[in-house]
Amino acid sequence: MKTGYVSIIGKPNVGKSTLLNRLLDTKIAIVGSKPQVTRDRILGILTEDNCQCCFLDTPGIIKPVYELHRLMVAKIKRAIEDADVIIWMIDPWSGAEDFPKDLMAAKRGPVICVINKIDLVEKSKLLAIIETLKKINLKEIIPVSALTGEGVDRLKKIIFEYLPEGPFLYPVEDISDRPERFFVAELIREKIFDHFQKEIPYATCVAIDDFREREKGKDYIRATIYVERPSQKIILVGKHGEALKNIGAEARKEIEKFLGRPVFLDLWVKVKENWRKDSKFLKEIGY
Ligand code: GDP
Ligand code: MG
Repeated sequence: MKTGYVSIIGKPNVGKSTLLNRLLDTKIAIVGSKPQVTRDRILGILTEDNCQCCFLDTPGIIKPVYELHRLMVAKIKRAIEDADVIIWMIDPWSGAEDFPKDLMAAKRGPVICVINKIDLVEKSKLLAIIETLKKINLKEIIPVSALTGEGVDRLKKIIFEYLPEGPFLYPVEDISDRPERFFVAELIREKIFDHFQKEIPYATCVAIDDFREREKGKDYIRATIYVERPSQKIILVGKHGEALKNIGAEARKEIEKFLGRPVFLDLWVKVKENWRKDSKFLKEIGY
């Protein structure tokens, strides 16, 4: 048997979360067209044949501004240290200059470079990037499209080859180490990213206050969306609560798809000033 941790790192928006979902064939990580959607380390477990691959999706590599960002960078660092194999993901508009030398200093495992979004560029462009990457110490350079799935099966096989021998770390039926409530909060956050521009999604976090199976009727979920300022709350709630209602309806559909059962979603918005700088609060809500 082969088992190991595989960390997926790279700049925001290159497609790390999309690749994880594609590898697992399940929507486990939320995806967005805006950067920094992923805040947390997300573990996705793939067990196939005699291999168990524990993928860590990480927040995009950025320069820290808020305490929240510092926590995010610390998570990337840990994910690199813990990894048996590191996937460094880039897109066709990046190159050798994006290699995070400092962060990689602590690595133990080999680095596989994945060039994602090949559905968007010509072959010649790809070859040019691969040429620039030769000066970095990479075990493999694999072009893929996480969106269409092209190259992903080949990537999977190559990752399996680099896994160390060892017994499985998780039961074969597990796909993550996180409780359902974490994914529920993430799906709500994804809808906020879909619906709002500029600072609102970044000023938002979601806490699950209550998650109960009920004897009669659907599961009950109460969630609070925290924002930093009263003006943001007004926008998020919308006229006559329309905006919040839409987020709730869309999130509920996704949550039901994820859980495989109907739920009642009770959604609230609260103001918590400067929560991104508040270590105690960040800890409370699980960051
Ligand atoms: P992350 O920040 O690295 O986790 O990136 P995401 O997985 O959230 O993806 C960022 C954006 O790129 C989303 O809009 C995805 O749909 C898109 N995307 C991801 N992979 C591909 C790909 O292979 N091709 C194309 N065309 N778009 C992709
Ligand atoms: Mg992501």
